Amino acid sequence: MITVGEALDTILAKMQFKGIERVSLDQALGRILAEDVVSGRNNPPLDNSAMDGYALIAEDVKDAGPENPVRLKLAGEVAAGYESDRTLQRGEALRIMTGAPVPKGADCVIMQEDTEKDGDSILCLDRAEVGENIRLAGEDVSVGETVIEQGTQLSPSHIGMLAVVGRSSIAVAQRPTVAVLSTGDEIVDLDGDATGPRIYNSNGYMLSAQIRAAGGIPVYLGIAQDTEEDLMKHFEWALKCDVVVSSGGVSVGDYDLVKASLDKLGNEMSFWKVAMKPGKPLAFGRIGPRPVFGLPGNPVSSFVSFEQFVRPALRKMMGARQLTLKQVQARLTKTVTKKTPRLHFMSAQLSSNNGEYTVTPAKEQGSGVLKSAMNANGLLVFPLETGELKNGDTVSVQMLES
Ligand code: AMP
Ligand code: MG
Repeated sequence: MITVGEALDTILAKMQFKGIERVSLDQALGRILAEDVVSGRNNPPLDNSAMDGYALIAEDVKDAGPENPVRLKLAGEVAAGYESDRTLQRGEALRIMTGAPVPKGADCVIMQEDTEKDGDSILCLDRAEVGENIRLAGEDVSVGETVIEQGTQLSPSHIGMLAVVGRSSIAVAQRPTVAVLSTGDEIVDLDGDATGPRIYNSNGYMLSAQIRAAGGIPVYLGIAQDTEEDLMKHFEWALKCDVVVSSGGVSVGDYDLVKASLDKLGNEMSFWKVAMKPGKPLAFGRIGPRPVFGLPGNPVSSFVSFEQFVRPALRKMMGARQLTLKQVQARLTKTVTKKTPRLHFMSAQLSSNNGEYTVTPAKEQGSGVLKSAMNANGLLVFPLETGELKNGDTVSVQMLES
């Protein structure tokens, strides 16, 4: 049986970049940037005031204080969006608003609260240092600087930065379409008859949501019955998408016919078991150019297998820099043991206090107990060879919330 690491390497080696498309800035949130964004301008464009106050020459107020106000002559004003044509002289101050360019001759801005207005002059009640309250040109962004790198997933502040440098459209990775196929005679859709032994197709909806969260476009294909004929029919539809993801029917039960059906469609299987828990049965292969993931049916297994393998695969197809879930080191708050020589992913609660993470695994770790996974914000990585992790040990935890 191959390890989680080997399985991931095998999968990633087979994933190809899908392609580039241009989108307008208002459509760019969450997309993976497919170019380096280089600024063609300085921001701010000119030295400007960080405060509403007065631009002046620091030397003029070096002895100023509440008991020793210094009088400066008002030499005009400048508001944001305008430039003053005055060059400030010794003994003068210029009224200045936040964001307005600092006039020539001035070397600092004193905040309004440290002054008193007196006719056509002001009294400065405090000293000011050279450069005080001045935001320098290019302080945020300078000409020629790469502000966002290719492969970055765009957050709201990235969108802000793209606007700062004047980009109204950008190149992003195309989103792969991903077929989601559920299997099983016991599975019914949400409007179906879920009486008796039947259950709703929770995996289909969860996987669709995971695909969307990973950046892909889910294509919901409903449920195939546990017959080769119905499975093949559905897989043929699924092959119209860039990637195929199924759940269930991939284990060793009498009606686990996913592998046999894929075989008949010409699947080139890379592996179908991974040394992990929850999970283990997980088929990965290719039909023509299409990667096919046969995930296990148990809801937690399906969820975790997706996060470990399908998410990184989709992100590789989009050229993302961060493929896997982010991982941190955390201090374990209780001892856990295992017997099986498999890597365990345990649903867990991760919290941070004073810069240190602590992690507590959920009580229920059953592969059918979706509630534990739902309430978890992390997956504790319990290494393959390790039988016991002790209270207080430093362990690796994958973060489920980005
Ligand atoms: P299987 O891998 O097909 O043997 O399924 C393992 C377990 O997962 C069984 O208890 C199934 O009922 C359950 N299961 C399979 N597919 C789904 C699904 N789409 N939604 C919810 N549970 C499922
Ligand atoms: Mg089944």
